[in-house]
Amino acid sequence: MPKKIAAGNWKMNGTRAAVSEAMAIGQADAGDCVVILCPPATLLTVLSDARLALGGQYCHAETSGAHTGDISAPMLADAGATYCITGHSERRADHGETDADVRAQTQAAWNAGLIAILCIGETLEQREAGETLAVLEGQLNGSLPDGATADNTIIAYEPVWAIGTGKVASAAQVAEVHDALRAQVGPRMSLLYGGSVKAGNAAELFALTNVDGALVGGASLKAADFVPIIEALA
Ligand code: 13P
Repeated sequence: MPKKIAAGNWKMNGTRAAVSEAMAIGQADAGDCVVILCPPATLLTVLSDARLALGGQYCHAETSGAHTGDISAPMLADAGATYCITGHSERRADHGETDADVRAQTQAAWNAGLIAILCIGETLEQREAGETLAVLEGQLNGSLPDGATADNTIIAYEPVWAIGTGKVASAAQVAEVHDALRAQVGPRMSLLYGGSVKAGNAAELFALTNVDGALVGGASLKAADFVPIIEALA
């Protein structure tokens, strides 16, 4: 059985003033579900006492070097992360990251002992052109290195048009994609949905056979919003 996972991606949000929210999230009754928080890297060491697994939001493909402003996978691991998001659509869009870049970053995450949360997702144009499954299969083939297992990789399906827009994909849309992903990655790898997940829509999504949890943005910032999502999964 794939592990059930509730992951929060704080994106570029959160200072030490938000530590109490993370601590409260760590108090959620998570049952057999793994709760992961991916705060800004500045908060990783600050959150070492939270009862949460921690993740980075990105890592450079190299371990160190002249890359001002960047962060490497060994640095994230050293700061307490055990996971790292790779290939988020905001990185792909804002920083021009290609599938080949994401592949190298995912490999770097593994090399540092981190579990990668690899994100894929289609744009609205691609969905409307009927290209969704082909786009996702291409992204997965291009950005997932050889050697991916259920122990080193989690896949997050995040339709670009559903991120931060309040437009959640329908259960039928998510089921179609996750069933196709399951056929591609095998029975054990966890498959997360991401895109405007909230307490009000989480249970319907988690009821789908091949949805093993969620990667949550906006609704992971406050314990009052994230804890009910965790409890819906647990
Ligand atoms: P929202 O939950 O804010 O739509 O963000 C989803 C996301 O991008 C998580 O990585």
